[in-house]
Amino acid sequence: MRPKPEVARAYRAAMSPCLSPRCDGAVIVETLTDGRCDQCGLHHRRRTGGAKWDLIVGPVVVTLSGATARTRTAPGYEERIDADAVTFKDKLTIDLTRGAARFITTVPATRVVRIVAR
Ligand SMILES: [Zn+2]
Repeated sequence: MRPKPEVARAYRAAMSPCLSPRCDGAVIVETLTDGRCDQCGLHHRRRTGGAKWDLIVGPVVVTLSGATARTRTAPGYEERIDADAVTFKDKLTIDLTRGAARFITTVPATRVVRIVAR
């Protein structure tokens, strides 16, 4: 059973929201540096002593909106990236492995549609 909206709101105010934009879950603290979203189960991490969760531990699939003027893609176009880790700062840093090679790519945080565990 889901809690009443006002209870859920108070509960979430005390918790950190999930980093996946389309998820309205909250991060449940498991250890000092690790937590899990109560809705989607996404594994969040923060630095020791840090208050903010800014890292998602994969493997995850990051969905990016590709509809920018520069890429000239149709509205609604979405790009999916298999990632090993995602860091949230001003921009989004995505760690990914392609075969034996490791890549790091940064995208504007505004392009993130959702992040799901895979
Ligand atoms: Zn979530």
